[in-house]
Amino acid sequence: MKVAVVKERRAFERRVAASPDTVKRMVDMGLEVVAESGAGGEASFADDAFATAGASIAPDAATALGAADIVLKVQRPLIGDEAASDELRYLKRGAVLVGLLQPLRHPAQIEAYASAGITAFAIELLPRITRAQTMDALSSQANLAGYKAVLEAADEFGRAFPMMMTAAGTIKAARVLVMGAGVAGLQAIATARRLGAIVSASDVRAAAKEQVESLGATFITVDEAAARTAETAEGYAREMGEDYQRRQREKITETLKRTDVVICTALIPGRKAPILLTEAMVAELAPGSVVVDLAVEAGGNVEGSRVGEVVTTPRGVKIIGHANMASRIPVDASQLYARNLLNFLTLLVGKDGKLRIDMDDEIVRATLLTENGMVVNPALVPSAPADARASAS
Ligand code: NAD
Repeated sequence: MKVAVVKERRAFERRVAASPDTVKRMVDMGLEVVAESGAGGEASFADDAFATAGASIAPDAATALGAADIVLKVQRPLIGDEAASDELRYLKRGAVLVGLLQPLRHPAQIEAYASAGITAFAIELLPRITRAQTMDALSSQANLAGYKAVLEAADEFGRAFPMMMTAAGTIKAARVLVMGAGVAGLQAIATARRLGAIVSASDVRAAAKEQVESLGATFITVDEAAARTAETAEGYAREMGEDYQRRQREKITETLKRTDVVICTALIPGRKAPILLTEAMVAELAPGSVVVDLAVEAGGNVEGSRVGEVVTTPRGVKIIGHANMASRIPVDASQLYARNLLNFLTLLVGKDGKLRIDMDDEIVRATLLTENGMVVNPALVPSAPADARASAS
């Protein structure tokens, strides 16, 4: 069976879905790997490194994809008139496609996979069970995004993060507030602490308090009772009511007066991200403060943030809206993502090197979007239970 890896062509994307390490492992599994020339260029994986690991190098995407039984992608393929290149057109009927396919945001594309006879898997729909942890691309990428968000903030910040006592005077430690203490937020806290900042954090889920405190940051509680019911069975946050949001804003506004940098990471699966910082709240920050909106592509946590831009407010606060933060650290993000996909592939490929789609496996069932020309995922089929739909992103 042939596995194809191609260059990612969507805006802001620098990652690639395989690494020399995972190519070697796929070859050991009895798979043939074909990589488009330049596929790993932005992640510093040269064609030579892929070839040494056992891949053959195809001159272009059409050649690589046309031969493939399995296609590994980071982003969903370009379709129709989205760009100069229609990647889906090159895939043969019956090919398996695995990637971060964003099924709820782009349902029409899922229909297109079905019509093209593609068997598509959305890796972000993995259930959060122990067995799936090695495949959990949302976590591997969010972790790096949280790290990079702090470095981007430090870069835009005109001051230092650590306290420094020098002969010329003392520099005060920066005060960082992290909103949303999931995977990205916890890494942001750890990174800001390592840089010497004084860190506080807030989250709607009660479980976050202990995790935040274990990293040496202060937890800001909005409503203890509400926090206890804010977590879904899957470990994600629920959308909070108006009253909670109002109280959260009041509480955070008090903190903003003493804050230099805010990192916002809050997401609600399948929904628009909650607004955590209104324009009035951003105005509470001192000139020179920096806000990072990691949720900018999901609608944004910060009023005034713009995808792919650094906006400076009239008061001189910078709002960083970089798209696809994980891809700004493309080597490690690709290494980890490639490993996630490799681990997922072990579910789809039998010991004989042949494809085996086992619908009794809950990981396969949860991630499979289309099969035999039909959309089959319960999160996308209207008659499915609402719970299943809410857990998709
Ligand atoms: P996420 O990316 O969906 O959201 C980021 C954070 O934003 C979450 O902590 C969420 O509670 C928070 N949030 C949402 N609305 C908010 C609001 N209005 N105000 C403040 N914060 C808000 O979440 P995530 O990072 O993917 O992870 C959520 C949890 O799942 C974490 O505790 C994580 O450790 C856990 N997790 C478990 C597994 C597993 O395999 N068991 C794997 C990955 C993550």
